[in-house]
Amino acid sequence: MKKFALIALASMAVSFSSVAQESPLTQEMKDHAVKIGEAAYKSNLTKDLITSLTTEVGHRLAGTANDKKGREWAMRKMREMGFDRVWEEPVDFPLWHRGSASLEMTAPFEHDLHIVALGTSIGTPEGGLTAEVVQFDEYKDLVEAEPNSLDGKIAYVSLRMAKTGLKGYGYAGQARRMGSVAAAKAGASAIIIRSIGTDDNRTPHTGSMNYEDGVTKIPAAALSNPDADLLDNALKYGEPVTLKLEMSSHSHDPVVTYNVLGEITGSEDPEKAVLIGAHLDSWDLGTGALDDGTGVSIVMSAAKHILDGGKRPKRSVRVILFAAEEEGLIGAREYVRAHKEDHKDFDNILLGAEWDSGTGRIINFAPGVGPTSLSVAREIGYVLAPYGVATLMTNTAKGQSDMSLLGNAGMPAVNLGMEPTNYFDFHHTANDTLDKVDMDAITHNAAIYAMFSYMAADVDVDFTK
Ligand code: ZN
Ligand code: ZN
Repeated sequence: MKKFALIALASMAVSFSSVAQESPLTQEMKDHAVKIGEAAYKSNLTKDLITSLTTEVGHRLAGTANDKKGREWAMRKMREMGFDRVWEEPVDFPLWHRGSASLEMTAPFEHDLHIVALGTSIGTPEGGLTAEVVQFDEYKDLVEAEPNSLDGKIAYVSLRMAKTGLKGYGYAGQARRMGSVAAAKAGASAIIIRSIGTDDNRTPHTGSMNYEDGVTKIPAAALSNPDADLLDNALKYGEPVTLKLEMSSHSHDPVVTYNVLGEITGSEDPEKAVLIGAHLDSWDLGTGALDDGTGVSIVMSAAKHILDGGKRPKRSVRVILFAAEEEGLIGAREYVRAHKEDHKDFDNILLGAEWDSGTGRIINFAPGVGPTSLSVAREIGYVLAPYGVATLMTNTAKGQSDMSLLGNAGMPAVNLGMEPTNYFDFHHTANDTLDKVDMDAITHNAAIYAMFSYMAADVDVDFTK
């Protein structure tokens, strides 16, 4: 009788705890994640990877021989590190050659100005083009220019990017992304913008730009900040300022590059995967250290630390190194197309996160998941709190850079936010080199990526729900 009562009590306790709904994120999972993280903090791997990439390969402009070297580097490293699967997926895109670019002020004063072509711009006719410059304070003023009002002129947007990180970049960057279309609609024969950057060096910033079907393509280039100041000062004299622009940039027929993937295969449900990504390509002016060698090294290192932890998560952790991000998220667009339309396995992605924020130390964790799984996503975030990472109470993350296309296609995502840095002093310039990388910060970031991606791949929860 006594024995029966005890059994009844024990079974009551079991049913009681199941009513209280224990979290699917068990203490064992958290402890193992912390073990992986602690090992990652002690490791030189992230630092070694970015040093190796920038030294052995350098820039990785999409479609070039260096792009191929970069992919071979990534696949070799992932194989050497013992990843279970390493593969490539093709991406077509039009190859672009930067060529040369020069800009002279010919009147009322004479100067050689420092410029770079914007990525995917066409060139000028041979021998260059000489025209009077018309200044616009910012992009929205250029948009309002009347048709034909810029016939035979060079449009110039002089707005200086504010030092407010991504917000400032998005706003000032409109001139770079859409300026050529607005200028051409008003009849301009070329567009020059002040670099989208926060430094005071004579190192202009390149970056992607767009043309629009049905609108004349015109050459587009960026002036360094000091050279834009010089042009602004010359314009203040109120006399016509003429510039001679010569550029030999040009595009070719589509070529093939590849997204590179590597996997730590899950122990129970390997088709399902947490995706941690970065872009492998870079502009060709620096060595692509900050943008996005840091991301490449962080996500590769994170996966290796999970492998070294000695216990596979139930579902896979997949590293994705996107192709041709700089020219307009081309690799990511193809990934979404191929996996939603061709393979129809897009829904197997449990959660995605990208690092494309240079060398900033991760200080917050922002989920973007379904309403029922939000508490688990937050619990994952709380494990990171002792490492200086705050879980934000928002639930709107869509993934950063390439991953935003996946987020917008329905993938649950996590955004990792960073402390402010001087990223936009170097971004897309010849100064994007290894010496700018904060090795302690990227080691921390790799530890954070390892911990959260391990937990997300091991926990029994559907983040879409
Ligand atoms: Zn980037
Ligand atoms: Zn970039």
